[in-house]
Amino acid sequence: MNTTTAERSPAAATLSYPNVQLHIAGQWRDGAEGQSLAVLNPASGVEIGRVAVAQRRDLDEALAAAASGFEVWRRTAAVERSRLMREAARLMRERADDTARLLTLEQGKPLAEAKVEVMFAADVIEWFAEEGRRVYGRIIAPRAPGASQHVYKEPVGPVAAFTPWNFPINQVVRKMSAALATGCSIIVKAAEETPASPAALVKAFVDAGLPPGVVGLVYGNPAEISEYLIPHPVIRKITFTGSTPVGKQLAAMAGLHMKRATMELGGHAPVIVAEDCDVAQAAKIAVGAKFRNAGQVCISPTRFLVANKVREAFVDAMVAATKGLKVGAGTEAGTTMGPLANPRRLAAMQRLTADAVQRGATVAAGGERLGDAGNFFAPTVLTNVSGDSLVFNEEPFGPMAAVRGFDTIEEAIQEANRLPFGLAGYAFTNSMRNVRLLTENLQVGMLWINQPAAAWPEMPFGGVKDSGYGSEGGPEALEAYLNTKSVATLSL
Ligand code: NAD
Repeated sequence: MNTTTAERSPAAATLSYPNVQLHIAGQWRDGAEGQSLAVLNPASGVEIGRVAVAQRRDLDEALAAAASGFEVWRRTAAVERSRLMREAARLMRERADDTARLLTLEQGKPLAEAKVEVMFAADVIEWFAEEGRRVYGRIIAPRAPGASQHVYKEPVGPVAAFTPWNFPINQVVRKMSAALATGCSIIVKAAEETPASPAALVKAFVDAGLPPGVVGLVYGNPAEISEYLIPHPVIRKITFTGSTPVGKQLAAMAGLHMKRATMELGGHAPVIVAEDCDVAQAAKIAVGAKFRNAGQVCISPTRFLVANKVREAFVDAMVAATKGLKVGAGTEAGTTMGPLANPRRLAAMQRLTADAVQRGATVAAGGERLGDAGNFFAPTVLTNVSGDSLVFNEEPFGPMAAVRGFDTIEEAIQEANRLPFGLAGYAFTNSMRNVRLLTENLQVGMLWINQPAAAWPEMPFGGVKDSGYGSEGGPEALEAYLNTKSVATLSL
């Protein structure tokens, strides 16, 4: 196992990080009372910058701007909205290296992963820019002579979006792109722990020529901001990505005030490894997927259910690949896994490991903190994990794979469906029968078979059960920002 390189990373020390401001009514500015919060580098724990805090006055200004921005934007031709969005995508690509550096400094992921996130954001913007030109209504055959019946699709109105720290750009870009493509304005409350990279995204849109008020960006106290924005009459839709408990609170508030809502919440993805699969290939794909972004991914593979006949071979291959990972600061060349984004996740990994071991699990790889500076935790594989272990029941959201065996595919499906989560699922099999059983019976919103996750913008992205509702990809993602209006006319 490689040890952390955070303390001796000269690259991290020389990269500059800005103080991040709010974006309200077309202006970059501090909060009304000048307050700010520290932003820490997760590889060192050291403060690298500050982020402005929005007060009630700032939110009122952002709301007023979103209301007037909406009136301008909804009347802007779809083709012009599309042109402007494509210019924002171009700017994202042009600035990708600088934006990726900010993202790595504040969030920790390796620079190569950060660059992929930025470039992917440009793809998302472009896809929605195109799809927004194809929002069509319908003409429906009338029942009486002289009558006509039309269905119109209209933007739902100003949106409030709440996004987390694990993919600081991608969690924002899916929401912003769908809102803007359909003619909505949007206020984004991005994560205070990772504020600079979403600000770079917003800046690309502003520099592309977005009219003032169409996008607002605020930071501050998440609960205070959501409790003020969600019930506010200007806001017509909310969208949230984060944990299931917080999502349930926000969805309840949205329901109380009759606001449309999209909820992209936690998961606990089962990975079903059948005995007929290519075990070496499955282990290679699983390790790549598991430790991306240090496992802080809502669709991260987490519950490894492995056919007993191939369990030993799969675990051996997985452990060998896991031990080959290089853990270090994301800015360090060669790093394949960075630190956890905050000390909360480090504490959670320690708690989950201790609990699993106490219930009889074996630590086949990792299982401990690395170094004493930054939030580094070793990529971990736990085997013989009992079903009542915490790690098999609560979302680990960290670099931890927990393995259990199964005898029949039906047994594996039952275990996969046992939890209230239903976001992503993975399977490795070459049997048509297994593919059919998995497709028909797994309670998930997304299923990837013999491949890592491919969350392309054209594919629906979202969960079922406690993992939320609504989609952040495909035409469904646009539909979530549109109202339907039926108009019947009789010419007298
Ligand atoms: P958390 O539940 O405190 O916060 C999750 C996110 O929600 C954060 O971005 C936070 O700022 C925001 N948030 C919290 N309370 C809020 C409120 N009242 N109003 C608006 N936003 C609010 O947990 P955390 O420690 O930051 O993250 C840990 C857990 O969150 C993980 O275990 C995981 O389940 C979940 N999470 C999920 C995703 C995802 O992609 N679905 C991303 C990040 C975190």
